[in-house]
Amino acid sequence: MSSPFHRLLQFQARKYLSQEGANLSPVEQLRHSTPEQIEEFIENISRSYVTAEQQNERQARALRISTDEANLLMARLQEMNRDMERTLEFIRSQLAELAKQFPQALSIANEESSEGNALIRQFRQLVDAWQSHVFEIGKARQLAEELRVEADRANQAKSDFLAAMSHEIRTPLNGVIGMSGLLLGMNLSADQREHAETIQTCGETLLSLINDILDYSKIEAGSLELEETPFPLRDAVEDSLDLFKHEVSKKELELLFYLDPGVPPAFTGDVTRFRQVLVNLVANAVKFTSAGEIVISITPNPDPDRLGRWLVQVRDTGIGIPADRIERLFQVFTQADISTSRHYGGTGLGLAISRKLVTAMGGEIWIESKVGEGSTFHFTFEMPPTDAPIPPRLVSGVPDRLRGASVVVVDDKQINLKILENSMLLWSAQPVLFSEPLKAVEWMKANPAPDLIITDQDMPDLNGSQLISQAEQIHGRRIPALILTSVSWPARPPAGTLVATKPIRERELARAISGLLDGQVTTYRNAPSPDSSPRFTHFPAKILVVEDNAVNQRLVRLMLGQFGLEAIYCANGLEAVQEYQASAPDIIFMDVRMPVMDGYEATRRIRALSGTMKVPQIIGLSANALSDEKATGLESGMNDYLTKPILRLDLFSALLKACQIACGESAVV
Ligand code: ADP
Repeated sequence: MSSPFHRLLQFQARKYLSQEGANLSPVEQLRHSTPEQIEEFIENISRSYVTAEQQNERQARALRISTDEANLLMARLQEMNRDMERTLEFIRSQLAELAKQFPQALSIANEESSEGNALIRQFRQLVDAWQSHVFEIGKARQLAEELRVEADRANQAKSDFLAAMSHEIRTPLNGVIGMSGLLLGMNLSADQREHAETIQTCGETLLSLINDILDYSKIEAGSLELEETPFPLRDAVEDSLDLFKHEVSKKELELLFYLDPGVPPAFTGDVTRFRQVLVNLVANAVKFTSAGEIVISITPNPDPDRLGRWLVQVRDTGIGIPADRIERLFQVFTQADISTSRHYGGTGLGLAISRKLVTAMGGEIWIESKVGEGSTFHFTFEMPPTDAPIPPRLVSGVPDRLRGASVVVVDDKQINLKILENSMLLWSAQPVLFSEPLKAVEWMKANPAPDLIITDQDMPDLNGSQLISQAEQIHGRRIPALILTSVSWPARPPAGTLVATKPIRERELARAISGLLDGQVTTYRNAPSPDSSPRFTHFPAKILVVEDNAVNQRLVRLMLGQFGLEAIYCANGLEAVQEYQASAPDIIFMDVRMPVMDGYEATRRIRALSGTMKVPQIIGLSANALSDEKATGLESGMNDYLTKPILRLDLFSALLKACQIACGESAVV
């Protein structure tokens, strides 16, 4: 039984020893060697040592990425590895020692002195010891290799099992969610509606649980690969916050986002995973907070003891978490309080996944919390800032008319004032900030009329609408004004006022202000509108969405829902091919990178099958805008291609076009 390393060393020794004649004893051979030959011998052995060390490192890496299933095996393997490292270290020191002594030993031995012979004997003993160590290492290595293969097999079996289970559970679940959706579209009594809604919510909870479990095990299995694509930070965050607008406006909650000017506008990294962590933390904050505010802030990381250059904080004024539960929350299936899971739902996997993702992004995640006062989740990340060009839609336009304009900004929340002040300064306006509306009124009495007023609606003493009416009285004319609200919608806002819901995207703010200053707004618009997107009243095509990432899946589901559409969802290419055979969808949205089977392969297979079946329109979805993925997609048989983050309007027009081609019938909006 011998390892490659062992064989290599033996080979080196034999090669050297046979150079001078096979019938001489090793000691004789050594006696006749020149110092250069000895050096070469030692050099060769050192090289073998380096090879062994590299092998060792590779093996250690393989061990690190293996999963918990093989934990026991891993522990043993790691122990053996440590033993091997110790032995190799010993050999290295022995070799160094020999290298030092050998030339001297040889010259003495050549003079036939007894001292020389003693040294050669010592050398021989060392070589013997070294060989028996090498033999032991060979044995240990072989065993380690066998264990590794076994662990790999266990791992593979787990992945296969998960993929199969996911498919088996998802298929009936799609039925449950789809059918209850159809039911909800019918004329139901209040009771029936409630039951159908419960079925649907339960189905969706189960689906998200499966997504989370899959995601977690994918990360555990070491198959998490982070993408490296340039992305604008503000858009990434604002896109994520969009998901919560509706939920927040139903509660007495404000959702605010502060981006410190010291943080670069764009980074190169995995925007989907970054958003996944953020969405998870904000979703928790929204879930566990019934009134007050949720503030998301991104700043440079001030603490050199924490990894990662950038710091994200999600602070809420919710129920808080008892100190003794905090650390446990990062373990799988753990919730702060069993009773909360019944009240709020949830799987207890979100934070465990977040911690893994944050670690992969070179950062740390931790919590500060006080029961009854609220929690702050912090996470750091390490990504290089980028100057790479970002698609133009993502760069917020500067309202030119704002340059030098005086703007009165009123909000009782300091963080809001800071956020708005930043935007105003960015656009070279001159903001005057007030946290009390009455102070703003006093200021206006003593100063010329400002060019613009931006005010919160809900404030003590005076609300936003009242403040604007007073400003009109003071100055004898209408001042362009923007009311920001997340809690109460002014019943009748003053004429000429624009009302917008918080959090407002910076570029929406820019657009709103441009409109106001150009005098385009004569009365209020922009009603609070989760429903403001166009809806289809007739859409004959059946839609399949293939997307492995839970966040993206949720996103597409949400957008389609806003258009009044439903879809079937699959998590990888193989499931998609099977679903295509089972239900023959007309339009398929196909993520390109997925486990089990990627989107290109799935498209090819569907195209191969569609000789006998309905020919669907396949629209590729990819996060990688800059590579040649589009060309590959089209070659594999996709008809169209959308780049993530997917924009609502792009999705809408893709749907219109695909429906017309696939069904020969136009959708009706
Ligand atoms: P879940 O899917 O159950 O929300 P998470 O891992 O995301 O799973 O969260 C685990 C638990 O941590 C939650 O069930 C809750 O008890 C606690 N928790 C997380 N975020 C908050 C928060 N912002 N406020 C209070 N408790 C929280």
